[in-house]
Formats: sequence, structure tokens, C-alpha cells
Amino acid sequence: MIPKTNIEKQLTALSASLAPITSEVEAWAEKNIFLNWGLLSRGKFYCLECAHSWKPSDSASCCKFTNCSQCKAKLKMQTYNQVHFKEIEYFSVLQTCAGYQVVRIVIAYKHMKKNFTPTYFCKEVMQHWISQNGEVRSFSISTNVFSSTIDAWKFYSPLEIKPKDFFRNAKYYINPYKVYPNIKVLPLLKRNGFKNSVYNIAPHLLFSSLLTDSTAETLLKSKQLNLLQYYLGASRQQIKRNWLAVKTAIRNSYKITDVQIWEDYIELLRYFNKDLSCASYVCPENLSMAHDHLVQKKRELIRKKKLQDLRLEIEKAQKRYASDKKRFFGLVFQKDELCISVIENVRDFMQEGDDLGHCVFTNEYYEKKDSLILSAKVAEQSVETVEISLSRMEILQCRGFKNKPSKHHKQILSLLSQNLYRIKERLQKKKKIVP
Ligand SMILES: [Zn+2]
Repeated sequence: MIPKTNIEKQLTALSASLAPITSEVEAWAEKNIFLNWGLLSRGKFYCLECAHSWKPSDSASCCKFTNCSQCKAKLKMQTYNQVHFKEIEYFSVLQTCAGYQVVRIVIAYKHMKKNFTPTYFCKEVMQHWISQNGEVRSFSISTNVFSSTIDAWKFYSPLEIKPKDFFRNAKYYINPYKVYPNIKVLPLLKRNGFKNSVYNIAPHLLFSSLLTDSTAETLLKSKQLNLLQYYLGASRQQIKRNWLAVKTAIRNSYKITDVQIWEDYIELLRYFNKDLSCASYVCPENLSMAHDHLVQKKRELIRKKKLQDLRLEIEKAQKRYASDKKRFFGLVFQKDELCISVIENVRDFMQEGDDLGHCVFTNEYYEKKDSLILSAKVAEQSVETVEISLSRMEILQCRGFKNKPSKHHKQILSLLSQNLYRIKERLQKKKKIVP
């Protein structure tokens, strides 16, 4: 992008004035950011650090690591038999320039081949310039736009200033594996708590936050590093919401090891209206035990509340049901072992539904004005449930376990038809009373 604004022009000039990454820095990277590799090929060990090769003893041939018998390096064994491969890492160099904090990001390649010592290649691919008030402007070399990975750098392209929100683009988010230890930072960052480590946080993110956000500053100064990482990750709102509890943890030098579990736990404390400024709640010695305890307690409470709600609901429904169907209560048709009676309690609808595995309760048949529901029992066990239409005085349904007819089905139907008139009588009695 061609620099347009004054600030873009100024930064472009400043960026061009920076000395290139020195060979000293590159030498540090070669030594410190890569693993040492070994290879097992055609029955021989190859050290890819010093080019030494040797015949292994049998027992050593399947280890993940082995030691080179010549250079003594601890070698990670390459599992695939590739004679030629590379390792890629990013590192950053932190320096200041004209009142800006500069984060320089370098990609480093280590090329390895058996019988050769490794070769290295470093290239600066990005720069973040952070002003004293925490604004970030970034430079980057070009990437292959057709590639899905960010690593598809075009190494011959120059560093160019990028649009304002470039550093927020997830595609270009790089958290370098290591920081070159000779660190130069703005005095303001030191004042806001930066000591000498970025604690695995992308440096540009940490710096811009320390300059703009007192929450980040507090978390860093109180060494709540897990919270800080979490906060700068994606969960600012969550930490702000729990700020009272965070302050309690800080005051008591309580180290939060698992932030997610702790936040979950704080949410539970909130559910139980516990005081989040009280250390005995907020800073449990055994977090996972305290967490599980509250989860259990909440589950229990919800279960009880559901039962109570159901009980209240049934009580209300019972009042309506009794006033609707009271005139049919007490109706019993009996023949031999079979006994058909009007269901008188909403609670019995629930029992009937449970016993026969159907929906007479869940679908609230007790609320149906035109229906009369009866239960057919043999030896006091429900075998079928019957629905009768009061307006048409006929049997609508007669169903047993899982809605299938029982072996008493015919008998039930015949006993019902013989007695329908008794239901009709009760219906008419009512009509006579109410003119
Ligand atoms: Zn070696």
C-alpha cells in the first residue's frame, strides 16, 4: 500500500531507516529457536547437526530422542524417512525508534539433509509500530494471495505499510515463538509493568494493551499471567464482568491456574449470591473440587425446583379438573377381574402415563373439556387408558402399553359399551340442575 497520510509517510521513512536484522541476531536464532534433529535411514543414525552417522545398537532404534555420539546433541528423531526437510519458526526483535515501540517479526528456516550440516535462512516479514498512546500500525511483505497459509511469503517483496486494522486480521496474527533477549522497550511500557518477558503473548498485542488498558496493566503488575493471556485472547468482557473477583484474587495473591474453570466457578458463586469480595469463596485451595461441589449443588437445586414447579402445576390443574369432571367421579364399571374407573386425580394421569408409557399426562388430557378419561385395570394394574367423547358419547381411544391394545382390549370395549349410558346419566343430571 502506498503511504498516504502524514503518519504513514513518517512511519515508512522511519522503517526504512532501521538497520537490517544483524548477523548476531541471526546467529542467536540459529542456536536457540530450533530443535536438533536426527534421522534413522537404512539402518543408520544420521545427526543432522554435525553430519555424523553411525550404526545404532538395536535397543536405541525406536526412541523418540537419541544422543549424537560425536557432537553430543540431544536429537529428536524424524519419524518419516525424509532425507531432506526443514523446520520453520518465527522470532521477534523488540526495539524502539523515534518514540515508537517496534516489534520486528522474522521468519527463520532451518534446512537439513543427511550427511550435511544444516543451513539457515532468516527474513524479516513484518513490523508493528506502536505509538505512545497504543495505536498500532503494521508493515508486512507480500504474501501469495492464492495460498491459504500465511507462510506463503513473497521474499523478494519489500516491507510496506498496511491499512490501519491490519494487525487485527486473524490471518496475519503471528505470535513469535521466541523473543531476542536483548530487549529495548519504551519507558512508558516499563512504567506500566513490563519487566522483561512477554509471557507467550504476541508482543504487539501486549504492548498496545499495556498502553491503552489499565486492566491489562493491573493483571501484569499483579502477575496474574494466566488471566492476562486469557484477557488478551478473546475474553475481555468476561474478565471485566468478573473484575470484583479478580481484584479479590489479586489482593490475596491467589494464582489462578485454570482460568476457564475459575470463571465457571465464579459464575456459580454468583448464582448462589456469594460475596465475590470474600477470599474464602473466590480463592479456594482446591479449585476443581470447589467447582464440582457447586455444580452438584446447583444441579440438585434445579431438580428440586422443577419438582416443586410440577407439584404446583398439578395442584392448579387438579382444581380445574375437579370442577370440570366432578360429576363423573366415583363411576366404576366392573366385571370379573376387570375394573374401569374414571381417573379422578391429575397425579393419577401422571402415574397412568408412566405405567403405560404414553402421553395421557404430557399432552394434558385432563384439560380436554369434551373428554372423559378412564383407566382400565386388572388386578389393580393399569392395562389400558380410555378416552370418551362426552358430546358424542363414544369411545375415541382405548390404548394399552406404548399405545398398543392389551390382551383385555375386547373385554374392555364391551364393558364400556354396556355402561356408556351411566356416563350419559351423570351428564344429563347436571343439565337438569342447571336450567
Ligand atoms: Zn552430531
